[in-house]
Amino acid sequence: MHLILMGAPGSGKGSYAAVLKEHYRVPHISTGEIFRDAIEKKTPMGLIAKTYIDKGNLVPDDITNEIVKERLKQKDCENGFLLDGYPRTIAQAESLTKILDELGITLDAAVNLEVDDDLIVRRIVNRRSCPKCGKGYNLITYPPKKEGICDVCNTPLFTRKDDNEETVTSRLDVYNKQTRPLVDYYDKLGKLVSIDSNGTIEDTVKDIIKTLEA
Ligand code: ADP
Ligand code: ZN
Repeated sequence: MHLILMGAPGSGKGSYAAVLKEHYRVPHISTGEIFRDAIEKKTPMGLIAKTYIDKGNLVPDDITNEIVKERLKQKDCENGFLLDGYPRTIAQAESLTKILDELGITLDAAVNLEVDDDLIVRRIVNRRSCPKCGKGYNLITYPPKKEGICDVCNTPLFTRKDDNEETVTSRLDVYNKQTRPLVDYYDKLGKLVSIDSNGTIEDTVKDIIKTLEA
């Protein structure tokens, strides 16, 4: 299964990806995760990416396209992948189409997750994650059993630096201007699958799988 997960910040891409990668047994490629990892390790690319991410802007296309291109050439992507948070601009989508062409890969679907704006902000400011195992939580809908501590590995949870109300507003703005046009792009390619993502993780994942396998 060669899949793209699209949607506004807070639409649940990462949460669904965690389930879908097990279901389809494919690597989960999140450009946001790749950037956060590079920032943590203070690599030259990470230092550049940080200046954009902290402001709620997109990392430039040339950097992002190159990272994904190298990642998709790895052997584990031969039988499928789950792209989460990429592409995010038309230029990235065009670059991806070209890479897939070169690799002889046919995209199965671009899943677009639709969420109401007020829910997005509420989801993001209440989002917490585990720095060790990566598990995601939401203080209201998916709280950890012990306050501030990961259920799986007992590590203190953290809040992403870009998950604050000011940055969320600019991320939503960037999403509407630069990423939303991709819905049309993939619709024209006949790859678009739209999913209502206002409900629970469990229901939405079931809906995605059911729709893809219909
Ligand atoms: P979210 O979907 O909640 O915004 P991500 O982890 O996907 O979270 O992305 C976090 C940040 O990383 C984005 O706000 C953006 O600055 C940067 N980023 C991630 N993917 C891309 C991309 N494909 N192109 C440019 N910037 C990206
Ligand atoms: Zn953990």
